[in-house]
Amino acid sequence: MDNLLNQDFRKELLRTDIIPRKLNEISQKYRNMFLEDFKNKVIKTELVEKCQCGSLNLEELTKIDRFGLPFGSLICRDCGLVMTNPRMSQESLSYYYDKYYHPLNYGEEHLENQVALFEDGQGKKIFTIIKDFLPKKEKISVLEIGAGTGNVLSEFKEEAKKENIIVEELGTEYNNNCINKCKEKSINTIFGNIQTVIGLNKKFDLIILSHVFEHFIDLNKELDDLKQLMVDKTLLYVEVPGLFVIHEKDYYNNSFLGYHIHAHMFNFNKDSLNNLMHMSGFESKFINEKVESVYSLKHNINGSIQNNFIKNSYSKVLNYLELLSEGILTNFYKTLKRWHETEKSKREKYQRWNQQNNKKLEKICIQYDKVKRASYIRKISELKELFKILGDLKS
Ligand SMILES: [Zn+2]
Repeated sequence: MDNLLNQDFRKELLRTDIIPRKLNEISQKYRNMFLEDFKNKVIKTELVEKCQCGSLNLEELTKIDRFGLPFGSLICRDCGLVMTNPRMSQESLSYYYDKYYHPLNYGEEHLENQVALFEDGQGKKIFTIIKDFLPKKEKISVLEIGAGTGNVLSEFKEEAKKENIIVEELGTEYNNNCINKCKEKSINTIFGNIQTVIGLNKKFDLIILSHVFEHFIDLNKELDDLKQLMVDKTLLYVEVPGLFVIHEKDYYNNSFLGYHIHAHMFNFNKDSLNNLMHMSGFESKFINEKVESVYSLKHNINGSIQNNFIKNSYSKVLNYLELLSEGILTNFYKTLKRWHETEKSKREKYQRWNQQNNKKLEKICIQYDKVKRASYIRKISELKELFKILGDLKS
């Protein structure tokens, strides 16, 4: 597989001589153990040859992940979906999650010492996004796949209670320590996965997949399984780490290599997730670029042809990655944020600038192959100009 675009940022992305993230001793130790298991094929991997959209037109983007492990990524030229390659095989996943996932990713061997897998507020946020779509009922059934330590469900229940909605919850988990944590919070949790829940012969008003979907390998199969737990009005909340907000995340070192990780089989943006969901028979009710989204089953069969139209974000992704490598987006974002935090009276102005920034971004990220280099550079200087004006305004 070759790289048609011989540009500096592409070469930078293909580096193998660095560890993009700073690792503590525990992460380092588990990284080395993982590498041994990988070399000895205790952890099995497979190559990706085809995109979820059916295209074979794939281009290499990176060769390593945030830990410097040999899990690179491919981008589909026909839809823009970014896929991890090689990727761990399904048969190795339970071993991997049991032994490696937590210590390697969080740098902490004991779950007890680990703070919540997600910062507080995740369950509250999900309730806020979903509440307008919920059926007007006093009691709703909510399923969370991969409930972790139960924070999302317990916060969600609390928020619902404020609106006089009783939540009958169920969580699934693979990790027994997590199940115990859920029990401490009185969150009803079972050991298992979607298949386990299908065995219960139940349907739900809402199913939550919060930072879970990107870990799945066979997305179409998982979605087909989920459908068995859904009725016409069931809502499906899917949240994954959006590719187009890397510049806002210090946690990822504001870089693609700091974001990319072997445990995520796919790196989605709004369009690439929508493509996949539409093809699998879901319709979108809400989605943003952070990739917080709400779906339901598609009702209108006649409308399905139109909905299956694939929105290709290939160029947008590459444009974004180039801008990201130049640090402009991150600087711009940070300045705005600092301004926002230090001068509360200027919030409205901040909102306006932020909107303008987003519009510029959208403009810059137009079809890459259609944009000449010169016009790209002009747009960058426009952004720099905006940045400068902002600095002047502040002083
Ligand atoms: Zn594709």
